[in-house]
Amino acid sequence: MSEIAIPGENITRQYERIKDEVAAAIAEVLPTGTYVLGPNVRAFEEEFAAYCQTRYAVGISSGTEALHLALLACGVGPGDEVITVPNTYIATVFAISYCGAKPVFVDVEPDTFNIDVSSIEAKITSRTRAILPVHMYGQIVDMDPLLELARKYKLWVVEDAAHAHGAEYKGRRAGSLGDVGCFSFYPGKLLGAYGDGGAVTTSNEMLLDRIRVLRYMGQHKKYLHEIIGYQERLDEIQAAILRVKLRHLDTWIEERRRWAALYDQLLAGLPVVTPQVRSHVRHVYYVYTIRTPRREELIEFLAARGIGSWPMYPLEVPYQPAYQHLGHKFGDFPVADSHVSEILCLPMYAELTEQEVRQVAAAVREFFA
Ligand SMILES: *Cc1c(COP(=O)(O)O)cnc(C)c1O
Repeated sequence: MSEIAIPGENITRQYERIKDEVAAAIAEVLPTGTYVLGPNVRAFEEEFAAYCQTRYAVGISSGTEALHLALLACGVGPGDEVITVPNTYIATVFAISYCGAKPVFVDVEPDTFNIDVSSIEAKITSRTRAILPVHMYGQIVDMDPLLELARKYKLWVVEDAAHAHGAEYKGRRAGSLGDVGCFSFYPGKLLGAYGDGGAVTTSNEMLLDRIRVLRYMGQHKKYLHEIIGYQERLDEIQAAILRVKLRHLDTWIEERRRWAALYDQLLAGLPVVTPQVRSHVRHVYYVYTIRTPRREELIEFLAARGIGSWPMYPLEVPYQPAYQHLGHKFGDFPVADSHVSEILCLPMYAELTEQEVRQVAAAVREFFA
């Protein structure tokens, strides 16, 4: 087997597969003179809503802003608390802070690294307004008991589905389970634009209306600004590109699932923990994460063989300098804290080849030999 470099991420290979379709889509937009909130954004919103099994989708400028506007639409504001996890990307928690609300962190399950739903109730107070579960790495949170709690306490449920386009839970798609779903189309995400982008999905008309108004300067009618809104639209060229990519998404997810199954098989028996998948979910493997206490050594070992791997996320949000004021100390979240230094992501993208997956697995095997 000849050795080739295998980067941790490679989005240009995907571009090579679809470049003619992408060029045609962009070429159609450019002469129209409509670059903002035009027919491609509207069509993409319909197609993406259908894909996510919701009635509506709203194109937004980024995943971060999708979360921010979704929380605002739910009425989250100063003095409120929003429950989420410590081991997420910073944007999940910044969105809570942008609303003036306080993030309240709940520890995760040791096997899936998703929110431990049985620990949520103890963190609910009279100020709790919403629960913000993150479908970590592409596997959906155990939503049924979470939704039951939310109903009991009358809380909004905002899904951070930035890792989980197309993921399923008991046949229901990410973004359709809570009141609102928030997606990122950052280039490296499962469905990525060639720039920034995001979307909110919902079947709730009140939320739909608020999010649309918030997205574009607080107006239903041009030049009549009913509230202080934002300038956070998805642009027409990105929407045209996303429409092309959405048609391929299920194929790409199946390819990722195939590589994940091969990794599972080839890494079996090694002293690493491979992803643990619940029986009722369709994991979409935004990333393929393994756990080992020898992470730093393994990253170096793989890098020396031209293989990219990386920790995700290396410093939990409550311990970030930006959140020192919350007063958390390492050990507050025993499960997340004990795993954070052990998690690493191996190369995972649809365009991997079988030889590459075998080469990565062989290198991991060699490390532990
Ligand atoms: C990428 C990501 C976001 C933010 O999306 P952007 O489009 O980069 O603003 C939010 N939450 C999670 C979990 C993400 O991975």
